[in-house]
Amino acid sequence: MSDLHRLSIRELSEGLAQAKFSSRELTEHYLKRIAKIDTQVQSYITVTAEQALAQADAADAAIKAGHATTLTGLPIAHKDIFCTQGIKTTAGSKMLDNFISPYDATVVAKGKAAGLVTLGKVNMDEFAMGSTSENPHFGSTKNPWNLEHVPGGSSGGSAAVVAADLAPFATGTDTGGSIRQPASFCGLTGLKPTYGRVSRFGMIAYASSMDQGGPMARSAEDCAYLMNVMAGHDAKDSTSVQKEVDDYVSNLNDTSVKGLRIGIPKQYFNVQGLDADVKARVEESLKKLEEMGAILVEINLNMTEAYVPTYYLIAPAEASSNLQRFDGVRYGYRCEKPVDLMDLYKRSRSEGFGTEVQRRILIGTYALSAGYYDAYYVKAQKVRRLIQQDFLKAFENVDVIAAPSAPTTAYKIGANLSPTEMYLGDIYTLAVNLAGLPAINAPVGFDKNNLPVGLQLIGNYWSESQLLSVVHQYQQATDWHTKRAAIAEENA
Ligand code: GLN
Repeated sequence: MSDLHRLSIRELSEGLAQAKFSSRELTEHYLKRIAKIDTQVQSYITVTAEQALAQADAADAAIKAGHATTLTGLPIAHKDIFCTQGIKTTAGSKMLDNFISPYDATVVAKGKAAGLVTLGKVNMDEFAMGSTSENPHFGSTKNPWNLEHVPGGSSGGSAAVVAADLAPFATGTDTGGSIRQPASFCGLTGLKPTYGRVSRFGMIAYASSMDQGGPMARSAEDCAYLMNVMAGHDAKDSTSVQKEVDDYVSNLNDTSVKGLRIGIPKQYFNVQGLDADVKARVEESLKKLEEMGAILVEINLNMTEAYVPTYYLIAPAEASSNLQRFDGVRYGYRCEKPVDLMDLYKRSRSEGFGTEVQRRILIGTYALSAGYYDAYYVKAQKVRRLIQQDFLKAFENVDVIAAPSAPTTAYKIGANLSPTEMYLGDIYTLAVNLAGLPAINAPVGFDKNNLPVGLQLIGNYWSESQLLSVVHQYQQATDWHTKRAAIAEENA
């Protein structure tokens, strides 16, 4: 079978259950594609072929014995930020180049328990800080729609593997847009859950008060299957919430678009730098939703201008604290021949971390330092609360809020944006993390260069089912999510 990579998650699950193909055949199919096509896309940091085939055989045995779950035997790629026992976990950094975790992240463990087969670990921006997956240590992952362009980031490897059909779905993480923006750049569906819905245990920390894992796949339906595995309370993560988990798959048809009030923030569509094609495609998608019965309501989100400065204080502050542990002593990269302890710290950290990570540690340490703590960090936390209140007020009148996921489509690799230009590209995604809300990206068409455009829908707390359901209805009525990049059409 040469077209297994064109099947949806539901079709793969049914095909395995009905013994149309085995997990070994499916896994071999993907491994062949990776060997042939990933030389161009460069998305995998580690391919775990041997373990994958062993897991596939175990899955086939479970299916035969009648012990299978819905996802037993399906292959997956994990962002290299999730710890995997016995498999290298780098977080995209030289600092962790040789790090082999002694345990699995909860998300990985849940995947294993569900019978998922791990194909490997995929590239990302170093420590998830960035928007391009141009990694100083592991190289630049390419956008499958145009190999000269970035796939977005930081979960750019996760987006690229799905868009090139080098995995049927993938895990990602989103601290300020890292699931939604690469999903947008690569024409995929990606869900950033409510803070606390998915366990952060074993997910290497960037900004702990905002980090959240989530699914990346072609459709809302595919995401729902993975979300069923990822979500849930975990005693090992103190911010994980004890709240019943929805069955996201069976809820896919539960929310009707008819009568759904979609808020359109006035401020979002007047942002300087919003690409004309992005604006047009997003507006067309909203028109389509209106035709399907949704009610578009203009709303105000008055704090929009504060998003970028607030996030870029709080995230680096938390990062500077989280990354203190990489000191070259206990684990992580250690410089050669240190002359004394100070030299060991200094050189291990300046050789082990790339430029962007160092920049954030410096900004964060400064913002937290005794003389500036109140002026920067505390102030940013107060603004963060105002941003959250802005959303809560909006949700009194609307069910979901619509926005682009990013102001542009994927730009060229090596565009070399200044840090501020890069940070401004996150304008539409950051507030969701500051407020802890869930949001989803759905593909809604292409720009003049045939690069994908994404629509973002932001929901109130715990509305993952609703978001997936709305996008599912939209995807029943449109076919953007079925479009494939030329490289995905290539056979191995
Ligand atoms: N681009 C944002 C940043 O660099 C978001 C990254 C993320 O969500 N991990 O911080």
